[in-house]
Amino acid sequence: MSVENQGALADDQRADDQRADGQWSDDRDYTPLEQESLRQATRRYQQGRGSDLSAEELARISARVEELKREQHAVVLAHYYVPAETQALADYVGDSFYLARLAKTLDCETIVLAGVSFMCESVKLLSPQRRVLNPEPRAHCPMAYMVRKQDVDRIREQYGDDLAVVDYINSTAEIKSWSDVCVTSSNALKVIRELPQHNILFIPDMNLGRYVAEQLPDKHVILNRGYCPTHNRIIPAQVEALELAHPEAEVCAHPECTREILDEADYIGSTKQIIEHIAASDAHEFIVLTVVGVAAEIARQTAGQDKRVYFPATPPICPNMAMVTPDKVLACLETGAGEVELPADPEGAMAPLERMLELAAR
Ligand code: SF4
Repeated sequence: MSVENQGALADDQRADDQRADGQWSDDRDYTPLEQESLRQATRRYQQGRGSDLSAEELARISARVEELKREQHAVVLAHYYVPAETQALADYVGDSFYLARLAKTLDCETIVLAGVSFMCESVKLLSPQRRVLNPEPRAHCPMAYMVRKQDVDRIREQYGDDLAVVDYINSTAEIKSWSDVCVTSSNALKVIRELPQHNILFIPDMNLGRYVAEQLPDKHVILNRGYCPTHNRIIPAQVEALELAHPEAEVCAHPECTREILDEADYIGSTKQIIEHIAASDAHEFIVLTVVGVAAEIARQTAGQDKRVYFPATPPICPNMAMVTPDKVLACLETGAGEVELPADPEGAMAPLERMLELAAR
């Protein structure tokens, strides 16, 4: 294996430039909106709920959403990481790629996507003829923006034809259009193995890129210093405390976690793979190292089984996903607000997605 961590954004000067630009930094601070969302969502989590709405209010919202879905021939899709009360309004719950592909096949005129903005954009990209509504357009995934065009161009110039730019699907349509192929956390290994190029620039997530590189000794992988702030906040001391408290528990981690965390893991997989692994496992206890929203789907898929899941003491809550509350799903259906525009250069963003599908199917 060869992993180069001096890739697109590795030197301090460039990182400083980005701080000055207000784009991101290694110690990226949350915006005031994200800080407040995280504070409120953590309080709710500690109170054992994902919403401040009463049971009566939730029932009213649910009934009204059902009515509007029928009237508008609409379908609600939700990501695993939004609050459980929002997932409960959805016709389908899943990861971003599943939802985007599913959206294409649905018989409906309107799709409400409860997730972050790049996910809404992906659904619109794959279903351009449908009205796509984003209940909370301020909910953005910070990692989805953590790479710069000039850095991608510089690496392309340096390596020429023997370079493939591989883009984790958790990125904006614009970033997708700079890349040769997209990958998901489930299919990254398979897709990259199929690429003829020896040199791989993996964007934007450094942690997933490093994990993939370690499994692919024949490739030279250049890492970009993007990361998911929520998975980055999972620290070894809290995992070790959980292991001490639950010595029989299997440790399941998402590859967006840091290497120190992945070193502790018994099982590493995408959110969907972790859910399926827990449902199929003979073990009864699991330390889950990904966003706490996944607990709702684990509970659904393990209903009737004696399974317990534990999350770190500082709960991994994505403040942006936490903003997507049930009342906002209702509001966008009632008002039509949050309609998602087709991204600029849709063909450019579609090409790496199609390449991914082709390589993954081989
Ligand atoms: S959990 Fe991380 S990767 Fe997922 S939307 Fe939130 S910030 Fe982005």
